[in-house]
Amino acid sequence: MPPVAKPQEEYDVVVIGGGSGAMGMGRRAAQYGQKVCMIEEDGRLGGTCVNVGCVPKKIMWYAADMADALRSAPEYGFGDAQGKPLSKEGIPEFKWNYFVEKRDAYVRRLNGIYDKNLQNDKVEYISGHAKITGSNEVEVTMRSESGKFDAGTHTVRGKRICIATGGRPTQPSEDKIPGASLGIDSDGFFALREQPKRVAVVGAGYIAVELAGVLNTLGSETHLLIRHDKFLRNFDPIISDTLQEYMGNTGLNVHQSTNITRVDGEKGGPLTLTLDKGGKLEVDCLIWAIGRRPNTDNLGLESVGVKTDKAGNIVVDEYQNTNVPSINALGDVAGKALLTPVAIAAGRRLSNRLYGPEHLRNDKLDYDNIPTVVFSHPTSGTVGLTEPEAREKFGDDDIKIYSSRFTAMYFGMLEHKQPTAYKLVCQGKNEKVVGVHIVGLGSDEIMQGVGIAVKMGATKQDFDNTVAIHPTSSEGECLLC
Ligand code: FAD
Ligand code: NDP
Repeated sequence: MPPVAKPQEEYDVVVIGGGSGAMGMGRRAAQYGQKVCMIEEDGRLGGTCVNVGCVPKKIMWYAADMADALRSAPEYGFGDAQGKPLSKEGIPEFKWNYFVEKRDAYVRRLNGIYDKNLQNDKVEYISGHAKITGSNEVEVTMRSESGKFDAGTHTVRGKRICIATGGRPTQPSEDKIPGASLGIDSDGFFALREQPKRVAVVGAGYIAVELAGVLNTLGSETHLLIRHDKFLRNFDPIISDTLQEYMGNTGLNVHQSTNITRVDGEKGGPLTLTLDKGGKLEVDCLIWAIGRRPNTDNLGLESVGVKTDKAGNIVVDEYQNTNVPSINALGDVAGKALLTPVAIAAGRRLSNRLYGPEHLRNDKLDYDNIPTVVFSHPTSGTVGLTEPEAREKFGDDDIKIYSSRFTAMYFGMLEHKQPTAYKLVCQGKNEKVVGVHIVGLGSDEIMQGVGIAVKMGATKQDFDNTVAIHPTSSEGECLLC
């Protein structure tokens, strides 16, 4: 169903944004009987995660993973029709364009499902740009079917306003790096219709490592430019060190302590990157993955005095309250743990607290021990404190580390081995597990269960007492004694 053409004027809740956090908050509020509208400016629902984030990224990761499996298939006995093993040349070619169309069709299906979910919960979807004009009032510049913001303005009022406007990628300014705008960002990456033959990715966080991993594994000549000596510096060293060494060995060119000082060339064409270390790098595509900033521009925050921090994130307390009593904020725009499940959970809990049954009237999201995965090649997962953080917090004498490195059985059959490395960070006499950091095959799926254990306050003894599942990689965690 298309968005409403003529919104009503009064709602219980006006939700700004149509992404993960908005869905969590808005749908749950409506399920509790509140009259809710949701304003989204992008022309499609789902926000960053569905359209230019987790979903298309994971689909691309699957494609890359399949490329890896195809390369390994001959060693597992898959041959041609005559029973001969496949040569490297016999491996099917990856058709980027075909794949990207299928990926985007899947994303469009999800957009439709989000639309249906709103209908089922009786949340009114308004297509347009929202600007707060009062502590209970939002002006919407309406989008017409043409996609333009040319359908006039409409004012909606809400007893409560929830801001869930997310964030967007940052790029260096032309002043700092002449030619920087010739590069693209993660949104641009998902818009690529052809696979770049040679690509440079700049950045050292989740997005840089994930995109560089996908491109490298799918066969692009890939350069990852990091300004320090390590990527994923904030992760436990077992993850950053293991991954950096392994990804380097699979052909990813990691340029340590390297910055770009200028970019020459044409948009979409070959680019020449001048490096501060000296020398130039010729690529077909440059991707900036150097962080994101909150979507608070032209949102009208100043009109009601909603406080933001230095980075522009909306300041909220542990209950997602802003300093304006009728306005809440959550998800990426609040700048803490920029993850889809965090935005959804914060949204649902806010509605539980505001509109739910008595026993949920103090509900809030606990931001401690949030498990997270980097969809690198191989994947890596983390929960709790890193070893350096734990040592800093509790002191060296109170911390015991258990770690192991091994080759997953899958690679036992293969010439090419991927590493697996696990670390438990334990604290105190009882050896409470305060951090788990894993890298290797299946880490993405293993991490959820480990997250539950850590959240429940499991000790090393609890891990040891859990009988292993064999043969798996995850049994490595139980065997860390
Ligand atoms: P968003 O999902 O960004 O939604 C905000 C919405 O608000 C947008 O649709 C925007 O158009 C709309 N909006 C903004 N301003 C206005 C306005 N004034 N009026 C109307 N509408 C407005 N997280 C994970 O957990 N796992 C992953 O694997 C993962 N991968 C990622 C990969 C990439 C490449 C990126 C960029 C992010 C990834 N994330 C991942 C992070 C995740 O996507 C975000 O944390 C999540 O989408 C945040 O949800 P949100 O609701 O806060 O904001
Ligand atoms: P991050 O903040 O995670 O990483 C960006 C990194 O780029 C910085 O940490 C910094 O690392 C480096 N950097 C910053 N400025 C520059 C610069 N000028 N030049 C070179 N390098 C620079 O941002 P991302 O954009 O990668 O991701 C945003 C958030 O989205 C993540 O934090 C995560 O919460 C979420 N996300 C989650 C995913 C998942 O769950 N799998 C996947 C993708 C995103 P350094 O200081 O070491 O140089």
